[in-house]
Amino acid sequence: MNTPFSYLSHLECSHCGQTYDAHQVQTFCPICQTPLLADYDWTAAAAHLKRDQFQARRKGMWRWHELLPVRDEAHIVTLGEGDTPILTLARLGDELGLQRLYLKDESLNPTGTFKARGLSAAVSRARELGVQRLTIPTAGNAGGALAAYAARAGIPAQVFMPADTPLANIEESRITGAEVTLVEGLISDAARLSVEAARQNGALDVSTFKEPYRMEGKKTMGYEIAEAFDWRLPDVIVYPAGGGMGLAAIWKAFGELRRLGWLEGDHLPRMVAVQAAGCAPVVAAFEKRAETCEFWQNAHTQASGLRVPKSFGDRLILQTLYESNGLALAVSDEEMMRAQQQLARCEGIFAAPEGAANVAALHHLIESNWLAADEQVLLLNTGTGLKYLR
Ligand SMILES: *Cc1c(COP(=O)(O)O)cnc(C)c1O
Ligand SMILES: [Zn+2]
Repeated sequence: MNTPFSYLSHLECSHCGQTYDAHQVQTFCPICQTPLLADYDWTAAAAHLKRDQFQARRKGMWRWHELLPVRDEAHIVTLGEGDTPILTLARLGDELGLQRLYLKDESLNPTGTFKARGLSAAVSRARELGVQRLTIPTAGNAGGALAAYAARAGIPAQVFMPADTPLANIEESRITGAEVTLVEGLISDAARLSVEAARQNGALDVSTFKEPYRMEGKKTMGYEIAEAFDWRLPDVIVYPAGGGMGLAAIWKAFGELRRLGWLEGDHLPRMVAVQAAGCAPVVAAFEKRAETCEFWQNAHTQASGLRVPKSFGDRLILQTLYESNGLALAVSDEEMMRAQQQLARCEGIFAAPEGAANVAALHHLIESNWLAADEQVLLLNTGTGLKYLR
């Protein structure tokens, strides 16, 4: 029997469960203003796919195409994203007193951050559905990634970003031909302008969680982690959460793998969301065991990817933390900078401040005995420090 290129079946509201046609361009659930999630024909997928067949394919996130949303291979827009290395951090582990510490280095992606995965998926699917124009509000790296993939797809793109976004993000967006608008304010202010642009010129707004397919690209981090750990997931995963999509996407991937029966044992990792002390809406909500976040006033941090005062997917982030028995915690910019040096000195990895925040968080998790010395702990370095040079 011929298996389809993708088992995508429909979209489903993450809150009310209402289903939507995946053949049409969709944004978010109009009833509850929450994200739509892509769903697949799991029965057919489980019947025809084997977990070990993916390894032999050409490297990159699209080797998981049956579990991704693009139906015709010709529409894939790729720059070689995915299949980033998972490194053992023996020297840093020694310094911290952790015996099994790992880092997945997403800085090796095109445009230097994991944002490439999400935008490869979103732009590919947008091209497949005939979208003529794209727009995005961004704290920085998502704008650069959209600009790159839109250029490669030949689709015009608009990028709205705070005027004090790292220079690399402004330049990478401009040089790839996007129309860049610098905004006085934060990503939340940029979001209003992006929505307005979409309304005026018919562009699709690919803002975090406001279209369903960026998440699908990001979930491939979860597939790669499971495969690399021989389908037995690590004890703890530490992730720097801004919009929080990466965290929720990895959790979605684990749920899918469990449904396919591909995981060894029932063991799922405790998911940790790390935020900046100057912008920690998820931490504040988590500490109250709330279901949603409140808008964080006067957000400030050098980790621009974490400068997100309120995420459109806040419910999904918090659900991930509660369901996984995880945790949210904040670290200061000074702690991030010290951790950035520690990681670079011990392991030769020049991480983005967001990635370094994870190392700073480890100090707290060890001190409070939330982590045991022999647990398998995986850090995500979401981007390269080179993009933040001034
Ligand atoms: C966007 C970004 C983050 C935050 O990712 P979310 O999935 O939005 O939480 C973290 N690190 C870097 C380098 C980023 O660009
Ligand atoms: Zn809904």
